[in-house]
Amino acid sequence: MYMNKEELEKIKKKALEEHIPIIMDDTLSVIEKTLKGKKVYSFLEIGTAVGYSAMCFSELLSENGKIDTIERDVERVAEARKNIKKVGVEDKINVLEGDAVEILPTLNNKYDVVFIDAAKGKYPFFLKEALRMIKTDGIIFADNILYKGYVMSDYNKHKQRTAVRNLREYIKEISENPNLETEILEVGDGLAISKVK
Ligand code: SAH
Ligand code: MG
Repeated sequence: MYMNKEELEKIKKKALEEHIPIIMDDTLSVIEKTLKGKKVYSFLEIGTAVGYSAMCFSELLSENGKIDTIERDVERVAEARKNIKKVGVEDKINVLEGDAVEILPTLNNKYDVVFIDAAKGKYPFFLKEALRMIKTDGIIFADNILYKGYVMSDYNKHKQRTAVRNLREYIKEISENPNLETEILEVGDGLAISKVK
């Protein structure tokens, strides 16, 4: 299907101007490399924002592959749907509107890839749901896992304390889970890659 890359660039630029935390170029290229040669028929994203990363990921799908992406902010959902149409990838991306904490338990699909990029305080919950739906040989990515370096420092006296605690909990769980092969990269704001054995 034809994808309007020029339109995608405009959307990226606008998102950056509006300080919407879209995926960083380096992070995207690590994900592209990691998924190279892998069949991706089903992709779950938690945290759509305006659809930028989902549209980038849509290029990595195998034929007839689909992305489900969840966003709770009503205005961003509308913007994402509009953007996805403009870029011409509406056949590949399904935006689910609502809080992922409520939506995830209602999903019963099997996914080749899960990309976690939403409320940091909810990462352990998102992981539990991702593990329930990920296929064997699937890959779970978590963005912003090092959160500006707070996660690996002794930093713990701030309003970000709950986020930091939950990100550390996420790292502990993926590291200790014998069914996962995990890597944590300092790319972007930190990216965790967990392959399901
Ligand atoms: N993946 C996007 C950026 C996502 S930014 C990209 O790279 O282009 C994180 C988004 O997650 C925000 O838009 C925020 O509204 C949304 N979000 C945060 N917590 C959420 C939750 N519990 N459920 C659904 N969306 C959530
Ligand atoms: Mg992010």
